[in-house]
Amino acid sequence: MIGVNEDELWIEVEHGLFLPDLAGMVLSRLREGKPITSNYDTSELGKVLVRQLEEPRSGPTGSLRLSSAGKCQRALAYDYHHYKPNGFISDESAPIVFAVGDIVEMLIVAALHDATDHVKAINISSTGLSQETVYVDVPLDDKRTARVSGHPDGVMALPMYRSDTGEFEIVNAILEVKSMSDYGFKKFRSDGLSREDLYNYQTQAYQLAKTQMTGDQFNWSYVLALGKSVTVKDGIVREDGSWAKASPIVGHWAKGDDDIKYNIINRLREVIETQSPEEIPRPYKPSTAKATQGQLRFPCDWCSHWKTCWPNAYEEPASSGFYQKSTKIKLFVGE
Ligand code: SF4
Repeated sequence: MIGVNEDELWIEVEHGLFLPDLAGMVLSRLREGKPITSNYDTSELGKVLVRQLEEPRSGPTGSLRLSSAGKCQRALAYDYHHYKPNGFISDESAPIVFAVGDIVEMLIVAALHDATDHVKAINISSTGLSQETVYVDVPLDDKRTARVSGHPDGVMALPMYRSDTGEFEIVNAILEVKSMSDYGFKKFRSDGLSREDLYNYQTQAYQLAKTQMTGDQFNWSYVLALGKSVTVKDGIVREDGSWAKASPIVGHWAKGDDDIKYNIINRLREVIETQSPEEIPRPYKPSTAKATQGQLRFPCDWCSHWKTCWPNAYEEPASSGFYQKSTKIKLFVGE
């Protein structure tokens, strides 16, 4: 067993409560560069690479998914009622971007397996192409229940250490691996997931599903993220003026939130019970700020139903006028 406080491979997730630092283990494995020792099936990497050529791009199928548990309810209702996508559409870049994301995520999962498979107390399963289908049962009335499914990136059982008693216990957890945009990654790196974050809703939905399915408590998730635009020269400047090299991979533990889990069941039920998506008011409004008057921002500008939802909306180019802020480590020579 790894000794708590004797190395850096633990994170204090609450006062006196420690869980393994899985990102630290992945980073350490990536630094090593040695033959793989775990039983990880490396052929999965190739299969994932070409999978994007076979994925249908026909849009919503009428089903709800746990990965979208936190999505705009009106957009969920358009999907649920089989509305034809009529808004943002992706292009040929989608399979390439998704394939790169998939491969990077598979590499991280392979590194995680290789870093942890020899640690008896850590069990990570249902990863890669062996992802488990989990589902949440949504009671509609006394007789009817709807079932909404999803695929977490992994299911884990690992040790939690309590410093007040000095004891370890094994806890169940969900693994999610994400490659994030530069903006999203920087935010995640410094603050973790916000309560309202779509990824938080997604991972809370998986916890709920596993608890419902097994009767065991799933009250933790670990979100392991890679920034799509990270470079070896990225740095961070702290509030006190000190600086450090920024890590390309970051992980945060997210504790189960009963209010969100309750909310997930309610919002799914509300969508299923609609006769028409328009019964759900639009939760977003156009900007009233002078510089962006009338603009609809995320998630509407990425919504595949915006033309149906906002019949008077239109697209036109607009410049933000701001360069993307980045902090790079530069080399200086002293006097
Ligand atoms: S356009 Fe905006 S408000 Fe309308 S369904 Fe899409 S995300 Fe929801």
